[in-house]
Amino acid sequence: MYLNEAAKTRTVGLLGHPVQHSYSPIMQNAAFEYLNLDYIYLPFDVDPENLGTAVKGIKALGFIGVNVTVPYKNDVIKYLDWVSEDADSIGSVNTIHNCNGCLNGYTTDGEGFMKSLIDEWQNPSGCNAVIAGAGGSARATAYALLKSGANVRIINRTKERAVNLARSLKKLDSKWSLEVVDYDYDDMQKAIGMADLLVNCTSAGMYPNVNSSPFPLELLHKEMFVYDQVYNPFETKLLNKAKEVCIGASNGLMMLVYQGAASFKIWTGKEAPAQIMRSEIMKTITDN
Ligand code: NDP
Repeated sequence: MYLNEAAKTRTVGLLGHPVQHSYSPIMQNAAFEYLNLDYIYLPFDVDPENLGTAVKGIKALGFIGVNVTVPYKNDVIKYLDWVSEDADSIGSVNTIHNCNGCLNGYTTDGEGFMKSLIDEWQNPSGCNAVIAGAGGSARATAYALLKSGANVRIINRTKERAVNLARSLKKLDSKWSLEVVDYDYDDMQKAIGMADLLVNCTSAGMYPNVNSSPFPLELLHKEMFVYDQVYNPFETKLLNKAKEVCIGASNGLMMLVYQGAASFKIWTGKEAPAQIMRSEIMKTITDN
């Protein structure tokens, strides 16, 4: 009886390296339980040489799908049967759906960010945005902001990475308003001075580097909204200062929740209970 019941349970997973600190199993399992869905979400720490075999395992084991996290969001694409236009444009997949043996890839990071930004601030269409960072999250964020009609300036410690990011995004639409700002005080002051929105897409300030910030914090001003995608710690040095100085500020918790909620919908076809997912993460944070 027990075995037959277990065989009906649908499996969803997380592929990454490492995965032990991820909040995704906590929030996804809470959502399945809340909606009484017989699904389970399990983390899998996959070594780089096993990525292809692990992706084939999604089909072989009949998983409904997986999330993909650092460092595999790009590398995983070559193993998929189909990817969405957005995932293809930014070269990043964070959600795989096993659709009758066909592995489809999606990105939900941009959607998670935009939904959270609109909840916390406003639609960024027409605003002057500065993005700090040029890694995977900066790419998804810049793409989402540009598609929404924002003007985007990118600041990154390693300028070459910012230039490469801007070049690849410009190839998607040459009319997009996109510039790279030098990582020196005067240029950053000018760009941040003109900004209505500043998004931190760097790992500066993230545990254990809690004392670092992506740029000098005295450049913040009261006309801007600051979105820090870091959520561990809950309040970074940047966020702390932004709450004192700026018109508003948000951490990355709801981006995390909404990207997970969008994955949940892809796998189950149902709206995810985002507030339940959020409170389950909050419980974990306060328990520890
Ligand atoms: P990547 O490793 O791809 O990129 C890291 C970026 O951070 C690079 O641009 C790097 O600059 C910059 N950086 C790192 N340390 C510093 C520092 N001390 N000062 C200035 N710049 C620094 O990471 P991701 O893009 O995947 O993630 C970036 C951040 O966004 C992480 O903190 C992550 O937790 C967060 N994130 C949050 C999500 C959410 O749902 N809320 C989703 C995804 C990411 P350089 O090129 O010079 O090395």
